[in-house]
Amino acid sequence: MKALFASCSLLALVCAAPAGAQTPLSGYADAFIQQYRRPDPKVDYTITVRDGDRAAYFVELRIANPPNPARLVIPNWAPGAYRLMDSGKNIAGVTASTAAGDALPVTNDSEISWTVDTKGAVGIVVRYSAAVRDSVQWRRPNNRWFLRATSGIIDGPRTYMYLDGWKLAPAYVTFRLPAGWRIGTGLVPTTDSSTYWAPSYDVLIDSPVLVGRFLSYRFTAAGVPHRAVVDLGGGGQTTRAARVFVDMLRRISETAIGIFGNAPYKDYTYIFVGGRGGGLEHLNSTTIGVSADVLAQRPAGAEAVSAHEFFHTWNVKRIRPVELGPFDYERPVRTLNLWVSEGVTEYYTEVVLVRSGLNTPGDFARHLGDAIGNHRGSAARLVVSPERSSWTVWDSPEVNDSYTISYYLQGELLGFLLDLAIRDSTGNAKSLDDVMRHLFDHFAGERGFTSEDLRGAIRAAAGPDLQDFWRRYVSGTTEIPWDDYLKAAGWSVRFSEEPAPDARIGTITPTVQGGRWRAAAVPGSAAQAAGLVTGDELVRVNGRDILDGGDVTAVLRGVPSGGPVTVHVIRAGQPVTIRFTAGTYRRVRAVLTDLPDQTDRMRRIRAGILTGGGGGR
Ligand SMILES: [Zn+2]
Repeated sequence: MKALFASCSLLALVCAAPAGAQTPLSGYADAFIQQYRRPDPKVDYTITVRDGDRAAYFVELRIANPPNPARLVIPNWAPGAYRLMDSGKNIAGVTASTAAGDALPVTNDSEISWTVDTKGAVGIVVRYSAAVRDSVQWRRPNNRWFLRATSGIIDGPRTYMYLDGWKLAPAYVTFRLPAGWRIGTGLVPTTDSSTYWAPSYDVLIDSPVLVGRFLSYRFTAAGVPHRAVVDLGGGGQTTRAARVFVDMLRRISETAIGIFGNAPYKDYTYIFVGGRGGGLEHLNSTTIGVSADVLAQRPAGAEAVSAHEFFHTWNVKRIRPVELGPFDYERPVRTLNLWVSEGVTEYYTEVVLVRSGLNTPGDFARHLGDAIGNHRGSAARLVVSPERSSWTVWDSPEVNDSYTISYYLQGELLGFLLDLAIRDSTGNAKSLDDVMRHLFDHFAGERGFTSEDLRGAIRAAAGPDLQDFWRRYVSGTTEIPWDDYLKAAGWSVRFSEEPAPDARIGTITPTVQGGRWRAAAVPGSAAQAAGLVTGDELVRVNGRDILDGGDVTAVLRGVPSGGPVTVHVIRAGQPVTIRFTAGTYRRVRAVLTDLPDQTDRMRRIRAGILTGGGGGR
């Protein structure tokens, strides 16, 4: 996942799903016979967008051979977004009947589950509506879940209930939509253009669906069909923007596929929405929210989030921490390795962009330099280790004495360090690419990887034993001696400090989706001195309503030193107002510079990173 606001993703999100596509066929018949028995329960879904009614998606489940009682659950979190969703609040009007239409009793047995007394019926029908009850929020286009006049996205975990005990059964889903609306999804099409198929519930909910009027492009990457669907609320792209956009996605797709050698899917769908969002990865698709202006006019603005989400097709959707699957949708799951799933994906975002020619080597060095500067400027780097920030993703920042640091940032830099260390110790014969391929070959199926497996993969694929590296920089918070690593590729880092306006307020994602974004008080900042506390729920900053971290960044960007800042927050249920005058602080910057004496070895290692040379299989 990618919260688009770099400053804000102090905590955040990931994903993973059982890799159905990875399961080898054990016999000839497996290629075309679905492995479930006729008397087993089976759930098929119909999703309706009613003409002239955009208040909710109306959902119907037809359950054959239901157990009695039949317990239906709406997931409380979505793979990829590590926060509870309060999803039961989005469900209304749950009813059940027999196939013949006789009403059946339904008990709401928890905040996210309903139990139907089937009275022994061989088929039952369950109906309900699914929507965010705040109608303004519900209509607002984003990359996750909405419904407006011309389009909508159906988010699996918040829309489809599962039959407890039967998540592995295949399902059909039929969409009943207003005239002229189309469907964009990674689900398997059938001969009926309104009906799709999923081999299991996990795959069904990992396949978001764009419905409505949208632009559609098809292209081939590495011989495999890809598609991009773009919802601009009925608007279009200029011809030039469309060409740049498709070329960008093709390059990203081909470069990432090239790292692993093949595409682990039959087809892939990029779903873009002009609106708020960020991105979320899925098995053979992604949903990305970018401003309509970027999509329509200058799609290069979407290249980083596109590369990030696409790289997740391998790293997290298939190569996953062992704890992240199979999913328990009713309660939180913890792992030490979100820094790998998200942060190493951030490193490969830069790798893919430079290797594809979308960014220059100068862009690569600048982005990594900026990341090193952000890390050095954060006091939390010496307090919260990458494993710790991964582990505490579900918790209040208080568990880390209110220090917060993003495992995206930490993992991006660890990815860079590991790549440099492996290339250095093997004379560029091996690289982090080999480690990723090893992980894909060994930990993308039934079982995910542990921290020990990851160290084993580095040893097996690339040689060096990085026990000491782990103790210092992965489990620990030792200051990173940058030049010791960068010199292998002929770089060194130059740190500097410059005065900058201090209206700094970090932001943290809401504790539940749809909840308020929270403040992170930066140690030593003017906001902290004025009484802002990490965890305060943000309502308004300088008159602007805060819908997400992007609003905070946007409103504070224009505040000069000496400028007034007023922050309205909720703390312990009570409204609190904090006023302060923006100060001045010393902003840490970092620039990668070339060492004066470049050896052939340094040139080879740098070229290996930037072009993918060296190592390989
Ligand atoms: Zn991500």
